[in-house]
Amino acid sequence: MDGARALLVDTGLDRDAARRILKQLTALHVQLAAIVVTHAHADHFGGAGELKRRTGAPVLAPAFEAAVIENPALEPVYLFAGAQPPAELEDKFILAQPCAVDSLLQPGRQELHGFAVEIIPAPGHAHNQVMVGAPQEGVCFAADAFFPPSVLDKYGVPFYVEIDQTLATLASLPALPYGLYAQGHGDAYDRSGLEQVLDYNIARIGTIRELVHAALATPRDDSQVLQQVAGGLGLHIQRPAIYYLTRTTIHACLNSLRRAGRAELSLVDNRLLWQQA
Ligand SMILES: [Zn+2]
Repeated sequence: MDGARALLVDTGLDRDAARRILKQLTALHVQLAAIVVTHAHADHFGGAGELKRRTGAPVLAPAFEAAVIENPALEPVYLFAGAQPPAELEDKFILAQPCAVDSLLQPGRQELHGFAVEIIPAPGHAHNQVMVGAPQEGVCFAADAFFPPSVLDKYGVPFYVEIDQTLATLASLPALPYGLYAQGHGDAYDRSGLEQVLDYNIARIGTIRELVHAALATPRDDSQVLQQVAGGLGLHIQRPAIYYLTRTTIHACLNSLRRAGRAELSLVDNRLLWQQA
């Protein structure tokens, strides 16, 4: 916030979220100067179109993420391996309202619409996610670079598109110069709390990746690997959308293991099978 102007980081899921933000802005007597979107998941940008329409504030996002924000159908499409998805992948948690992006964010310290910020790359949970540092306030808006333990425990297998990048992002956080880290789905953490929660995130990713590796003791296709991992974590997936989100994380683990020389893939009888290397 800057006297009578505010820079918003992420918008929430939908029009209702946008209206709640507008109410807060009115109560605080501040004008919305610009909207920064950290990554193109519906729960982070779904309200952007409504906020932009009501305030005229420009929307800024990283490249790649911006393409999805402008074309939200890309998310259910990529979850369904590029094909036109079934209706179960088109609920508002996956398919948000589109919003035109006014400019692409570049990494580094800079001034955005009168606000001193640092745009910090944080890929892994989304392909080109960024965090937003506010150096003068000492706050880092960390989006979904890490999750609170309660969220990790609720979902069991969080959504990741790239495991090695996720781990690198987690490892980069303690070196940042901020005192407070605001997460997208829960509390803000000070430096002492941050270390503990990062360890929890790293441990969970390690557990999932080792369960994937263990499942490859015999050759398996991706749906069998998913079944093994979910069983190992005691999960009972109830919705197709959760199945496809989980499958993306399984794919990310398989590729991470392959790059590490611990997994290989082969085609046998028209089945694509993964096994330990
Ligand atoms: Zn997200």
